[in-house]
Amino acid sequence: MFSILAAKPKSSQRNKTGSWRSTKMPRFNGKECINCGLCKFICPEGCIVGKEKNQYSVDFDYCKGCGLCAYICPKNDIEMVENKQEENKEK
Ligand code: SF4
Ligand code: SF4
Repeated sequence: MFSILAAKPKSSQRNKTGSWRSTKMPRFNGKECINCGLCKFICPEGCIVGKEKNQYSVDFDYCKGCGLCAYICPKNDIEMVENKQEENKEK
């Protein structure tokens, strides 16, 4: 089933999405990570990078802010926080 849902790695990089991210964005706290890799696996944009415990991060040029990574993290080590991108654009 997941093979149908999962995006091919880097496929989203043809479609830069950072300019229309939702009002939330993920923050990886890097404190409780157990290196399960689920966030990276579930991300529909293939934009989570990292291979080591507490070292995962996001390429925000491609993140949509869907929240799946935070939803699936078994250690609640990813938080969805306000997207400051719009605020930054106005400055
Ligand atoms: S919020 Fe969605 S698109 Fe962004 S890193 Fe998490 S799973 Fe990927
Ligand atoms: S889902 Fe959570 S615990 Fe698993 S690798 Fe990602 S940040 Fe670490």
